[in-house]
Amino acid sequence: DNDRLIDGERKGEDADAALRPKKLDDFVGQPSAKDNLRVFVQAARARAEALDHVLFHGPPGLGKTTLAQIVANELEVNFRATSGPAITKPGDLAALLTNLEAGDVLFIDEIHRLSPAVEEVLYPAMEDFALDLIIGEGPAARSVRIELPRFTLIGATTRSGLLAKPLLDRFGIPVRLDFYSEKDLAHIVSRGASLLNAEMSADGAGEIARRARGTPRVAGRLLRRVRDVATVEGAGVIDAIVADKALKRLEIDKLGLDPLDRRYLRLIAEHFGGGPVGVETIAAALAEARDAVEDVVEPFLLQQGLIQRTPRGRVLSVSAWTHLGLPAPKESSS
Ligand code: ADP
Repeated sequence: DNDRLIDGERKGEDADAALRPKKLDDFVGQPSAKDNLRVFVQAARARAEALDHVLFHGPPGLGKTTLAQIVANELEVNFRATSGPAITKPGDLAALLTNLEAGDVLFIDEIHRLSPAVEEVLYPAMEDFALDLIIGEGPAARSVRIELPRFTLIGATTRSGLLAKPLLDRFGIPVRLDFYSEKDLAHIVSRGASLLNAEMSADGAGEIARRARGTPRVAGRLLRRVRDVATVEGAGVIDAIVADKALKRLEIDKLGLDPLDRRYLRLIAEHFGGGPVGVETIAAALAEARDAVEDVVEPFLLQQGLIQRTPRGRVLSVSAWTHLGLPAPKESSS
């Protein structure tokens, strides 16, 4: 479902770049992540050393890529970006690594999707700043060690649980990103509106923030769509009424759920009596990839307490039944 308004992917989202903060001070929210990074960046700069490797984990659209760029900016080093699925062979990674300069940041998005063969090359690179290459074949084969400049690997993953333990252990600075508060999102929306030259009232920003699923990327998308509606309707200022009207048209409800979220909840309610039901079954019934269901749909529903994860599968909470306007079954334990 490529057109989902609030999916986690950044494909074709050039507009994202326009709203991206460039300095740590301009990055709204995530106070503990920011404080930690500020200290470690300052220390690395003071010692003129490469920053320790950093792992960002958390749901899509919370600012992992943005923070990686900010870190490179603050360190005043080059930023090189790639992703797990883009590195298909060990040689691809070797080429990236040998082109780095001392102190550079190499950003690997979706690092949980690296192949084991590529991970094998990454381990000595992260730990010893060296590449072990095998030259020749058969009995004549020998291993050659190539020294690399000291660099900083910044990995991003939606689920650190999918990372191999040895890889996880090689990140000195693990940073968890959480869903944003409404207040922080309102701040991000207001800032975005002024960058887009859209006039917006505080209650307009609040309305978008409340329905942005705790996610800056979603807030940015909703902002752009609301602005479109305001333009077409000739609304001068985007206030709560204009925002609400636009969001209704986009089928974003009061909780920020979109049609896919509601299909997910309704499926469990109407076909599985509220659960428990396995994620595999849900994904198949929705005709969505399991990864998309687990990475994009479920985290927010879990955070909102609309569903629970149990060993036997997903279960709807009473609040989900209420939200759907359906009576909860009597034996519902939650
Ligand atoms: P991730 O890498 O976690 O999927 P991104 O870093 O690509 O997320 O962020 C998505 C978009 O959300 C960015 O383009 C940026 O405009 C916006 N964004 C993310 N975090 C913030 C923030 N703290 N303040 C302002 N904008 C943000």
